Amino acid sequence: MHPMPELPEVETTLRGLSGYLTDQRLARVTPRREGLRRPFPADLVQALTGARVIALERRAKYGLIHTDRDSTMVFHLGMSGRWRIDPDSIEKHDHLILETEAGHVLALNDARRFGSVDLVPTPDWPTWGPLAALGPEPLGPDLTPAYLAARLAGRGTAIKLLLLDQTIIAGLGNIYVCEALYRARISPLRPGSAVTLPDLARLVPAIVDVLSESIAAGGSTIRDYAQPNGELGYFAANWQVYGHAGDPCPACAAPIARSAQGGRSSFWCPACQP
Ligand SMILES: [Zn+2]
Repeated sequence: MHPMPELPEVETTLRGLSGYLTDQRLARVTPRREGLRRPFPADLVQALTGARVIALERRAKYGLIHTDRDSTMVFHLGMSGRWRIDPDSIEKHDHLILETEAGHVLALNDARRFGSVDLVPTPDWPTWGPLAALGPEPLGPDLTPAYLAARLAGRGTAIKLLLLDQTIIAGLGNIYVCEALYRARISPLRPGSAVTLPDLARLVPAIVDVLSESIAAGGSTIRDYAQPNGELGYFAANWQVYGHAGDPCPACAAPIARSAQGGRSSFWCPACQP
């Protein structure tokens, strides 16, 4: 069982796919069922067959495959999606197959089918439905302590939940919020308005670091995952608090706490994170 793909997995997946798709023409596009969480676009095969991929890009947890026809394929991996590169055989959950003119086969596999595939006119992608309301990228220049201070001002909601709000920051998931708050020594229960500018000056780099370290760990596995039957983008991570309820805090040895916030588990050290 794979973990749910988060931003670093999507980023790693795109970097892996890029080596097979960038500057390549798509020789064949084969949907193997009607769709995933929603139907595939009716014109998917027509729009992509023969198109040349000019660039790949990530926005939040969406992968964007830009083509020379001003058409962009937008995919989301949902709960269980992954791309398989040059698989030995096509299996039950390979729902969309892309074949390149160089002969590579890329299979979008999604057992639970919570993922999605859409076509968007390339110039319009930033304002396309699910992407339009997203906040700044956590690894981009717009996520600053001052920006977060403005968004958190007057908010009584717990900082943990505010950081998961995709309109405040795009693409941050539960694991990374827990780990970033631990590194920044901020309780996940603290109201947003009680998080100070000095706190945020620790939090922003903590967010960048936890994501960057995971992307680097994933990147180091691309060579292995790109073997036949390989899967891109998943890797074992070494979390300090996530999944460690009751274990000693790495910094102070107090037991890591766990509680439910907004239906998700929060893990933190009550001693280190006031
Ligand atoms: Zn501690």
